[in-house]
Amino acid sequence: MSTKATVEKLVSLCKRRGLVFQSSEIYGGIGGFWDYGPLGVELKNNIKQAWWRAVVQERDDVVGQDAAIVMNPTVWRASGHLDTFADPMVDCKECKKRFRADALVGEVPASAHGHEAAAKVTRCPECGGELTEPRMFNLMFKTYVGAVEDDASVAYLRPETAQGIFVNFANVLTATRKKLPLGIAQIGKAFRNEITPGNFIFRDREFEQMEIEYFVKPGTDEQWHQHWVEERYNWYLRLGMQKENVRVRQLDRDELAHYAKDTYEVEYLFPMGWSELEGIANRTDFDLRRHAEFSGRDLEYFDEETGEHIVPFVIEPSAGVDRLFMAFLIDAYDEEDVRGETRVILRLHKDLAPIKVAVLPLSRQEKLVPPAREVWALVRKHWMSQYDDAQSIGRRYRRQDEVGTPLCVTVDFDTLEDQAVTIRERDSMEQVRVPIPGLVAALRERLERS
Ligand code: ATP
Repeated sequence: MSTKATVEKLVSLCKRRGLVFQSSEIYGGIGGFWDYGPLGVELKNNIKQAWWRAVVQERDDVVGQDAAIVMNPTVWRASGHLDTFADPMVDCKECKKRFRADALVGEVPASAHGHEAAAKVTRCPECGGELTEPRMFNLMFKTYVGAVEDDASVAYLRPETAQGIFVNFANVLTATRKKLPLGIAQIGKAFRNEITPGNFIFRDREFEQMEIEYFVKPGTDEQWHQHWVEERYNWYLRLGMQKENVRVRQLDRDELAHYAKDTYEVEYLFPMGWSELEGIANRTDFDLRRHAEFSGRDLEYFDEETGEHIVPFVIEPSAGVDRLFMAFLIDAYDEEDVRGETRVILRLHKDLAPIKVAVLPLSRQEKLVPPAREVWALVRKHWMSQYDDAQSIGRRYRRQDEVGTPLCVTVDFDTLEDQAVTIRERDSMEQVRVPIPGLVAALRERLERS
């Protein structure tokens, strides 16, 4: 973690610069829901694109899909969510605050919901009032499909994207005619009625997941598990996360979800301590067996090499976009002293930066407008860019630094004479003069350099 980043500074920067807003803020907000503003949606898209590129585009053994959020409710019976996706909840009889009972005794399992609290806390940590007995509370949001609200029309907003992949396993296998090992990747919204959402966008009630279900032959699962742990850990480093802030931790037996044979977490050193960014679980053949049982469909795979029908094992790397968004911001946040002033800078990897290039005329003088607009027209065809002519050039550089824009292009009075502009780099603040006809190539060289 950057020692200079605090959650408060981050929340303030995110609001001020249009990265993240509280949902329905003008009505007082709603706990656990957040909106992404003009720059936030760019950063979020860039995170998703970087992931998709690494796990789908650049691999020959993973394909993508996009399943519906609302599924046949039997899915959640088969997956175990209806029975076990619950947390113990206690209420304070005095101040009426609500807590997760397992969190109060420091027992929140890192990778699974559904554990009852073993030890008991009977007093409210905030006011000392008496707490109720723990009650198990299912985290799935319920809704009704169709006009009639009865038991037969109950449906759920998915609490994870994974199940949409398991139920499509046979479809994807047939459609792609691929052999094992085969991964199916998906990015999409998930919903959990968390008892205690918080830490900004770390724990939300609506969030986005990026999940891969990687189907392998039983017996090769442990080796593929290691492969994915390394692959995913290295992805964070490639995108610029500082090594000392990211770690991989193998979960203890008692932390494992009921279906998992083994699980690793990629964790980040958030201001509130080491916390999960991504879980990488060996889910065995649990899900396919359960869905075969509940649906009556054959979800086996015919292994041509051995002539056997097998139920594949599954390795699942599962990451949350919103958590990664927060971690990348914290990691990139820096403050430095430049000529007696504090420069706030987001040292985001160029692939993640919401705006790649800002075009800045040195002043608002009329003469500079046409060439500056022409330069912007050249640039915006290739990259997300901004045109900014408000206030002094120094203030404008600072504004771009603060949102992580890697390059600024300045159009000045010399441009009128020499048809050249200045490229200024965010991190080094170095400036080079380049002729306008070579500008796009010069920017590309800098933005594509790894
Ligand atoms: P936690 O222990 O923090 O509740 P989890 O282990 O239940 O998380 P998984 O079910 O493994 O989480 O989900 C995979 C990923 O989805 C997590 O690593 C995290 O990045 C993200 N995620 C899960 N729950 C939330 C949430 N409430 N808000 C934001 N992201 C979440």
